[in-house]
Amino acid sequence: MENMTPKIKDIYKQVISRNPGEVEFHQAVAEVLESLGQVIEKYPEYADHKIIERICEPERQIIFRVPWADDKGNIHINRGFRVEFNSALGPYKGGLRFHESVYLGIIKFLGFEQIFKNALTGLPIGGGKGGSDFNPKGRSDDEIMRFCQSFMTELYRHIGEYTDVPAGDIGVGGREVGYMFGQYKRITNRYEAGVLTGKGLSWGGSLVRTEATGYGAVYFVNEMLKTRNDSLAGKTCSVSGSGNVAIYTTEKINQLGGKVVTLSDSNGYIYDEDGIDLELVKNLKEIERRRIKDYCQYRKNAVYKQGGNIWEIPCEVAMPSATQNELNLADAEILVKNGLIAVGEGANMPTTPDGARFFLNNNVLFGPGKAANAGGVATSALEMQQNASRDSWTFEYTEERLQDIMKNIHNSCYEQAEEFGCPGNYITGANIAGFRKVADAMISLGLI
Ligand code: GLU
Repeated sequence: MENMTPKIKDIYKQVISRNPGEVEFHQAVAEVLESLGQVIEKYPEYADHKIIERICEPERQIIFRVPWADDKGNIHINRGFRVEFNSALGPYKGGLRFHESVYLGIIKFLGFEQIFKNALTGLPIGGGKGGSDFNPKGRSDDEIMRFCQSFMTELYRHIGEYTDVPAGDIGVGGREVGYMFGQYKRITNRYEAGVLTGKGLSWGGSLVRTEATGYGAVYFVNEMLKTRNDSLAGKTCSVSGSGNVAIYTTEKINQLGGKVVTLSDSNGYIYDEDGIDLELVKNLKEIERRRIKDYCQYRKNAVYKQGGNIWEIPCEVAMPSATQNELNLADAEILVKNGLIAVGEGANMPTTPDGARFFLNNNVLFGPGKAANAGGVATSALEMQQNASRDSWTFEYTEERLQDIMKNIHNSCYEQAEEFGCPGNYITGANIAGFRKVADAMISLGLI
């Protein structure tokens, strides 16, 4: 809060008292509001129109019961969420997260981030997020299907290609999107491809969507490095997580000549000095759905550290791609001591605010999630374009579009940071660039 102007601080206090206990949401709001002092001074119309107050209040919040039966016939009750945060730029867009930690505060933090991330892509998508406190770990395929069907049995009435377009996030990938799309189609009797993204390639999905978040994050880091006449070639990189984002971050780093030496899951991390064997990881994670520790059964030089701190491994580039608040101030200090030069956030809000501040103060290039990981949702918007025209693009063309989008995002963050007197600060740059796009649209649309 120290970095907020008095007026903005008052708004922030209101947000806290109106949304008690939602600590992740408070954190995401604080991080954006800290960047906006000068913007409000320079453009007083944003204050006149109460844009900040309006942007912090979701347009609509839906909470619902998700009952389902496991393979033994036992009944479980989960809670489903969809927070439709802002539709000034287009239909609500954002993923669904299935994870036991999910509650309203997590969905609101993600939905809030999504508004600015989606604005940064330059594509016509508003911001939203949803999910459930359902824990998919250890569940059979049938159980996952029944859960997805029950979840969609309520969600279907709230979504649509012109209304709200969900996709995946933690715990939701192609399989889950498939079951949900099937149920939506069955209930509505409509083959409405544009209602969900992250679909399979044979039924309306887009090439590159699977790779997009990771690839995009690496492009973003590469753009940041270019501003210092540097590149990823020859760099040792540490990637956390072992889901979709981490896997395709590793793939793109390898393609650009870097070397990834770590991956992790919620139990521990692996360190492979020779560089991660990605085909092995893909097989373990994408096909066999196993834990990352099994990697060491096949690679004798690799080590697994149960419960260890992945950020102790020396690296020049760190790409936290697991989950929120996975990298704190102490971790940032170790990384900088070990020679870190750049961070690209593949996950949403993986670095704590004091960690991020430490990176900036130590001249580390820092690409915040809402800019660096925007390639996923951007490619979702490209999937929507293909669905709208009943077309499908080649891998090369789609990847080219993604690469252009990431360059543009980088450049708008860079330019806004310069314009507002903090060159090289991509956090402020991303917040201001995203905010202004949404704010200007909100003013044009009137008081709605
Ligand atoms: N869950 C992803 C994100 O955090 C992707 C959302 C989407 O494709 O709609 O941006």
